Amino acid sequence: MKIHEYQGKEILREFGVPTPRGSACFSVDEAVEAAKKLGGSVWVVKAQIHAGGRGKGGGVKVAKSMDEVRSFAQQILGMQLKTHQTGPEGQTVRRLLVEEGAQIVKELYVGMVVDRASQRVALLASSEGGMEIEEVAKHTPEKIHTVRIDPTTGLTEAEASKVARDIGIPDVANAQAVKVLQGLYRAFVEKDAMLAEINPLIVTADNRVVALDAKFNFDSNALYRRPEIVAMRDLDEEDPAEIEASKFDLSYIQLDGNIGCLVNGAGLAMATMDIIKLYGGSPANFLDVGGGATTEKVTEAFKLMLKNPNLKAILVNIFGGIMRCDVIAEGVVAAAREVHLNVPLVVRLEGTNVDLGKKILADSGLPIISGNDMADAAQKVVAAAKGK
Ligand code: ADP
Ligand code: MG
Repeated sequence: MKIHEYQGKEILREFGVPTPRGSACFSVDEAVEAAKKLGGSVWVVKAQIHAGGRGKGGGVKVAKSMDEVRSFAQQILGMQLKTHQTGPEGQTVRRLLVEEGAQIVKELYVGMVVDRASQRVALLASSEGGMEIEEVAKHTPEKIHTVRIDPTTGLTEAEASKVARDIGIPDVANAQAVKVLQGLYRAFVEKDAMLAEINPLIVTADNRVVALDAKFNFDSNALYRRPEIVAMRDLDEEDPAEIEASKFDLSYIQLDGNIGCLVNGAGLAMATMDIIKLYGGSPANFLDVGGGATTEKVTEAFKLMLKNPNLKAILVNIFGGIMRCDVIAEGVVAAAREVHLNVPLVVRLEGTNVDLGKKILADSGLPIISGNDMADAAQKVVAAAKGK
């Protein structure tokens, strides 16, 4: 689960990481009020969306007067902000962060992720802040310093101090940098983050170390014990189809192809998408209905897939282990009737009671195309999507 920059900065402050003073605003008047309250002479008006690259897309503006604060807030609020992380349609800006302008001497990068290979939290740090870290990794990987943090000690002072020096933080600010890095690590662990990024972390003219941006992504499997993080959820930023899916305990991710996939089990769902690709098709979604798929769940799954305007055909691929194929077949028939299915449907069943399952599909009178195995079903659905 992602949150906004201003919420990320609240968390950082809680863990002793300095950030510019600022506040979240939902209207132009609020933005002007917020700037007046902050005082000073330079303010930054920042679009709050769950995507980075806002600066380049015109979503971060430095204002030098109240008139500018007003006009930038007017420009940014409600805009359809496109960045390399939003997708081509962009994301509507509904919230702003108005904060004090910082005097930047250096822009650095620090981030943390879970490193599966070492089974540790990895700290990534670079002198090349402000730009996309993926570009730095590609062209100048030697400029990224990595520490794989031992969970029994946490990020040690010695490790943090060395990284700070490696990325060019001046010695006068070294002690502060250590606090920032250790604070980020504690926030990461104590809030169950999967990713935490400060890009840029800056050194100011008076040698202070300040987080100018904040990005967090939290482990959704840990949200049950983090109500304070759940409270920060912004449904406006999430895909409506995925929100709908989560209500029915379906794992659904919309993709840009045209073949809907309804599968039980995440691994089989991945394999199904792969085999569709192998035969020249393109999946419209990932959808795992789970082990205990009821008729109701299958119906909801069909409804979700059918909302996608690109949908041309559906492949149902079920392995009946604990789940029996006849139960799934009943579910598919009932669901297809209820939603008045108007695209070709290919079904591949395997496992317990498969013959009975196939009979139910055949006897239903619905134009269901039966797949003998995964390859056969994938080829049939790819052909059906192409109108053959
Ligand atoms: P994004 O990563 O989405 O582009 P950032 O918050 O990193 O958004 O802002 C982009 C750039 O804008 C920063 O790299 C920095 O140069 C500048 N910037 C952001 N916030 C401030 C601020 N409070 N004061 C001065 N400059 C800022
Ligand atoms: Mg940034």
